[in-house]
Amino acid sequence: MTSPILVAGGAGYIGSHVALALADAGRKVVVLDDLSTGRRDLVPAGAVFVQGDVGDAGLVRRILAEHGCDGVMMFAGSIIVSESFQAPLPYWRNNVGAGFAFLDACVAAGIRHFVYSSTAAVYGEPDRLPVPEGAALRPISPYGRSKLALEWALADACSTGACSTGTMRFAALRYFNVAGADAAMRSGQVSPVATHLIKIAVEAATGKRPGLAIYGDDYPTPDGTCIRDYIHVSDLAEAHVRALGHLEAGGDSLIANCGYGRGYSVRDVLDAVEHVAGKRLDIRTEGRRRGDPPALVADSSLLKRVLGWSPRHDDLDLMIRSALDWEAR
Ligand code: UDP
Repeated sequence: MTSPILVAGGAGYIGSHVALALADAGRKVVVLDDLSTGRRDLVPAGAVFVQGDVGDAGLVRRILAEHGCDGVMMFAGSIIVSESFQAPLPYWRNNVGAGFAFLDACVAAGIRHFVYSSTAAVYGEPDRLPVPEGAALRPISPYGRSKLALEWALADACSTGACSTGTMRFAALRYFNVAGADAAMRSGQVSPVATHLIKIAVEAATGKRPGLAIYGDDYPTPDGTCIRDYIHVSDLAEAHVRALGHLEAGGDSLIANCGYGRGYSVRDVLDAVEHVAGKRLDIRTEGRRRGDPPALVADSSLLKRVLGWSPRHDDLDLMIRSALDWEAR
């Protein structure tokens, strides 16, 4: 009998897909979310839902004790690179302050398995692609720095120093660009203010916005626009279920990139959206957006080797199709 998993931020885009994957795998799930950006209806039907702040250590300890959780997954936080330049301190408050309070509560409660939602933004502008986990960590945005800070705190908490219990192991999954929606349309990307490329493009394709801008066409890439590695949210969710299984089976702590190892430019993505939607989009070109590295592509061989993960939705058109279907609902 496996113990329930606390999914912090489980009403958001990625957290809800992971909560669904855990529930589909027969796991009991407890979701803690303040619903600041998430939505109650994305939480799996059979999950326990608690509306509250992940940085409320007392609440977290009560939930962990009440449900007898052994493992947690942490998705809550602020995630928009450009916004983090406008308001850096809320990024430190939400991602590091609240994140640390959550971590501290988990350590105090004797939690043994901690899966953390990290990001490719920890690498900044990598020297070579695809980028392996051992590459230099030089985040170029407050967002990237705040995510890395908690990753480091987590690694220290799981070390065997005098103040750590030595009982916790972790998996930090560094996401590249996540897109798409659950095949059964139980969840998809929700954000009151969209900033991610595929979300914005499908909003344009479904008439929710008049058009969109390409932020910079003077990058040192073949067509001048930024290159990213887009991973389907359901493949990413499976990586989390496998990471938890790895820790529960006694596996060592690990840090793993999550991507497909293939890059698409902004223009490639917009061409694909036009193709899949069967219509032209109104696209203009604007200046570069602050904090955008020219190219990011994952070396995910560790994820495949250690967790036995292999992508099942590695198809840009399919990812866009599911994002469009979700948007059209
Ligand atoms: N982008 C764009 N127009 C938009 C949104 C994004 O040109 O309306 C570009 C952005 O500059 C970056 C790429 O698309 O080069 C991916 O950005 P996104 O915000 O989706 O993810 P990020 O890489 O910042 O996590």
